[in-house]
Amino acid sequence: MVYLNETHDPSLQSWVASANVAENGFPIQNLPFSVFRIAGSSQAFRPGVAIGDQALDLAALARIQPFTGIAQEALDACQATQLNALMALGQAHWSALRLELSRALRTDSSLQSTLEPMLHNQSDLEFALPAHIGDYTDFYISLHHATAIGKQFRPDNPLLPNYKWVPIGYHGRASSIGVSGQAFARPVGQTRPGAEDGTPGFGPCERLDFELELGIFVGQGNDLGERIPITEAESHVFGLCILNDWSARDLQAWEYQPLGPFLAKNFASTISPWIVTLEALAPFRTAFQRNADDPQPMPYLTSDDNKAAGAFDIGLDVLLSTQQSRADNAEPALLCRSNFKEAYWSIAQLLTHHTVNGCNLQPGDLLGTGTLSGPDQGQEGSLLELNQGGKEPVKLPWGEERLFLQDNDEVVLRAKCSKPGYPTISLGECAGTVLPAKF
Ligand code: MN
Repeated sequence: MVYLNETHDPSLQSWVASANVAENGFPIQNLPFSVFRIAGSSQAFRPGVAIGDQALDLAALARIQPFTGIAQEALDACQATQLNALMALGQAHWSALRLELSRALRTDSSLQSTLEPMLHNQSDLEFALPAHIGDYTDFYISLHHATAIGKQFRPDNPLLPNYKWVPIGYHGRASSIGVSGQAFARPVGQTRPGAEDGTPGFGPCERLDFELELGIFVGQGNDLGERIPITEAESHVFGLCILNDWSARDLQAWEYQPLGPFLAKNFASTISPWIVTLEALAPFRTAFQRNADDPQPMPYLTSDDNKAAGAFDIGLDVLLSTQQSRADNAEPALLCRSNFKEAYWSIAQLLTHHTVNGCNLQPGDLLGTGTLSGPDQGQEGSLLELNQGGKEPVKLPWGEERLFLQDNDEVVLRAKCSKPGYPTISLGECAGTVLPAKF
């Protein structure tokens, strides 16, 4: 686990003035990674680190060899179009690079004049997927979501008996993952037969939903046949992003048994461009707690560090705008406000469980947490929970209602960590738009 060090000092300030503005979300204590280029250009994408409203070009920085040792090795891995090579180097390299970037971006750094020409306004940039994602697994780690959704599909038996013992997941599809700004056509497919006749429906999805999730980017992987013990699991995590696991509920209801989600999920998934490292999130760790009435995790899913600090306090918001609201210049509606700390399983437990059978994870693999609903009203991380199983439309402040998403609706997920006496650490945002179905 990464503990606090000089990069977390809340009094650190940057010579990039916008980084010191309260609540800007990308202070010098954050330093998240993405890949970017000038918007609309034909430049190669290259890695960058966010500082205030700027992004520092790490490929350009690498070429002048400003650092030494493993920090420079890590920077050299940024002469690439994606972050996989940096991810593969491991925790010691990431941490050494973070320390040197923190020092270089601090007020009075001797590198200021060298770095200034390598900064770009984030508003001038476009982003690509930060890594080649070889495999994508989506988990189901909110007990509150699993119970609420289980009630819709199985009113008499909402929570299956395995839930409190084994982190449930399914193998998703990496090819349809896009970066924030993704716009995708409403999926078409088979839907559950109506009551009167046994023939399934076919056509555009009528129950299109979002899922509020976080994504976990794997750093160093493990060899096929080898396990990652829970005491080492977090050192294999490069960082976290925001993830929208768009879901076609009517397709899902018809296809999900017996093998789980398939076409209801793999038409699109959207992630935020910035990956915030676990090191940056260290000040927001909290105890991982398991209700005394519940089974305690098996020994391979238990460690002292995981109990003491395996959860993260990350606030999560879902916002919705529609064609009408944008035409009216209305503010997007806040549909949900939740927190990652409510999750039933921790990040370390997910990695350890994923590899307990010898399955090999690789740098750039993405693990989704599953929908991060909280226990209370207003914390529902999907429309299927907000509308109580498709029964109660959500009323929007400008007068429209939504049972499920309509064409041209835009969903924006946001995530940030806040506490008194520490700068806000933002994960940025993850936006996606539903386009009409293609017939
Ligand atoms: Mn999901």
